[in-house]
Amino acid sequence: MTATGRAPKQRAGRQTTAQAIVLRRRDFRESSRIVTCITREHGKITGLAKGAHRPDSPLLGRIDFLNELTASFSEDRGGLRILVRAKLTRERRALRTPKRFLAAGHIAWLVDVASMEGRADPELFDLLLGGLNLLERCPLATIPQVVLGLELRHLQAVGALPAFDSCAECGVALDDQAFRQEDTMGLVCRQHAGLPRFPVPGSAMHLLRTLRATSGRDWPSLEVGSETRSAATLTALWLAAAVEQRAPFRHLIFAAN
Ligand SMILES: [Zn+2]
Repeated sequence: MTATGRAPKQRAGRQTTAQAIVLRRRDFRESSRIVTCITREHGKITGLAKGAHRPDSPLLGRIDFLNELTASFSEDRGGLRILVRAKLTRERRALRTPKRFLAAGHIAWLVDVASMEGRADPELFDLLLGGLNLLERCPLATIPQVVLGLELRHLQAVGALPAFDSCAECGVALDDQAFRQEDTMGLVCRQHAGLPRFPVPGSAMHLLRTLRATSGRDWPSLEVGSETRSAATLTALWLAAAVEQRAPFRHLIFAAN
């Protein structure tokens, strides 16, 4: 019921209206586009933006990558939904700087791969929203550490962040010396590191712990140097494993009979 006491129109009631961030779009036929957005309440939603290329389209210039919209989609009838209306609420102009755009695109890609059509994952949505806010205004030189922090949060959100404080084999605390394994995601102590050993520098471990324990808004003010790169080698392995887990049929193909 609305404030005036009248029930909203039935047709509008079945539409889905939500705050949405544009993740992807592609051309469809001559003048339309297919747009994939992420929403907090409904997960990913893909819809056809009819005639979005036409110069008189109300959607023109609104459904660009990473724009924030109040978007209304037609009722879900199992087929492709229609993007009925889109009101632009935020255009992230600051992200048009190449370095910021690259970082934002990377985080959006991670969230895109990890989220599903029609299944809400508020944590991932908030991660993207908060990440874009950070990447818009952090000093350019701090982008790598901010992205590293976002990668850690992402791994945490999808349940793919290994416990990197203790040896995966014996549980001993890994303070300064840790080694990564070829075949497992967790880190191990010197005793349990197979040969050849792949040591993880203590500074990289320290950075990962600090980022994990610090609020995102404080990431840009952390004093860091080249350890960002060695820490990023670790998150790259963990992310690759997380993405592979998300490939829905892969484990079926390689499963032992
Ligand atoms: Zn051990």
